[in-house]
Amino acid sequence: MISRLARINFLRVTARTQPQRIIKCGYSTDYDHRPSLGQYTEAEQCIIEVTNNFCKRSLSWDVVRDMDKVAQLRPEILTQLFEEGLMGIEIPEQYGGAGLSFMNSIVAIEELAKFDPTVSVVCDVHNTLVNRIFLQYGSETVKEKFLPRLAADTLGSFCLSESGSGSDAFALKTTATPIDGGNKYVLNGSKSWITNAYESGIFVVMATVDPSKGHRGITAFVVDKSNPGLKIGKKEDKLGIRASSTCEVILDECVVDKDDMLGELGKGYKIAIETLNEGRIGIGAQMVGLAQGAFDYALPYIIQRQQFGQSISSFQGMQFQYAKAAVDIRAARLMVYDAARMKEQGLNFQKEAAMAKYYSSEVAHEVATKCIEWLGGVGFTKEFQAEKFYRDCIIGKIYEGTSNINLQTIAKLIVKDYQQ
Ligand SMILES: Cc1cc2nc3c(=O)[nH]c(=O)nc-3n(C[C@H](O)[C@H](O)[C@H](O)COP(=O)(O)OP(=O)(O)OC[C@H]3O[C@@H](n4cnc5c(N)ncnc54)[C@H](O)[C@@H]3O)c2cc1C
Repeated sequence: MISRLARINFLRVTARTQPQRIIKCGYSTDYDHRPSLGQYTEAEQCIIEVTNNFCKRSLSWDVVRDMDKVAQLRPEILTQLFEEGLMGIEIPEQYGGAGLSFMNSIVAIEELAKFDPTVSVVCDVHNTLVNRIFLQYGSETVKEKFLPRLAADTLGSFCLSESGSGSDAFALKTTATPIDGGNKYVLNGSKSWITNAYESGIFVVMATVDPSKGHRGITAFVVDKSNPGLKIGKKEDKLGIRASSTCEVILDECVVDKDDMLGELGKGYKIAIETLNEGRIGIGAQMVGLAQGAFDYALPYIIQRQQFGQSISSFQGMQFQYAKAAVDIRAARLMVYDAARMKEQGLNFQKEAAMAKYYSSEVAHEVATKCIEWLGGVGFTKEFQAEKFYRDCIIGKIYEGTSNINLQTIAKLIVKDYQQ
């Protein structure tokens, strides 16, 4: 039997003698200097510090609790997110953004969620869905028109879901009818569950130019809030992430220019799939941050809390629980970072993104539940943050692909791997 050391050496030699194969697998041949997944670059470290300072300064429990209670994001929080540069992380400097990479968005989303998963999702949707679509699919004219605003002061929304099409997103009914010889389109329909809609100024809307073509008719358009054909409908009163607005968006004879189309005609489904693949890593980061935030909140309490004359953290029944929670958080974090770094390296990350999102939301649920138990009676009250983390974690299993839909994606890709 080949020893572990010999095997490692074999891999090192193989890496040097067969660089083509190793590079094809997506690994660097430099085994001695490959950093661990959790090792941050200087830029990542810097963005974590900036985010952490912002959170400590502006997201005290009093502020977070009040925003949750009234189900409203304070305008100054949004302003500060822009001022800190957290809303244009990947937008190139020429358009006013920070010009950083995807992984930097991920660590910022995670850090925000430790303090408030609600503020985290506001930043997540804006960066990983909206900005990303403009960066990847916008024409130069569209980029010049919208990216400076998205980096500076204007929130964005991603409008795909409708009341009749959630998991089956491409069964959407919103239409885009060409007029004026195809120079303009008229959008008609209604979008449901749109994050940030109440505060947003820029909306990416998926609509079909030809319902008979099924998903191949779906096309992405930009709609400005000032467009008289766009109206914000009912604002949902939710269980968790309450300060993040979730609204209906109504498109009523909403006329948009052909130039405000994102990507090609009929390619909106591809844009949505690819965007949500990345978005899922963002939600994974939100869930990891939430789990870590709940854990960080509960641990000092259980260490300090005495029962039977000793710290409750010293009972083996408790030790095994918080040790397992720490293991689970670490595993989820590494899955999220791995998927993000795969994306940055240009590898196919669809399965890993679905796995990271699925697993992180499971871990967030498990850890947030345990944290309430560990705090005992006080954990069950609204006075303490554990209760909010618990309510906020549930959404991780629903948006940007429910857990079932992510498992379905994973299963399909596994079968594909084995069929090759
Ligand atoms: C707070 C919040 C914010 C949101 N933000 C946005 C946003 O910004 N933009 C946007 O476009 N959408 C947004 N959504 C919509 C979200 O993506 C959908 O809610 C989600 O995709 C699920 O769709 P649905 O609610 O219609 O549930 P359904 O699709 O009706 O699913 C209900 C249940 O059936 C299961 N199910 C459905 N199909 C299958 C299947 N084939 N196999 C197994 N199980 C299945 C699901 O897993 C789920 O458990 C948001 C939703 C919420 C709640």
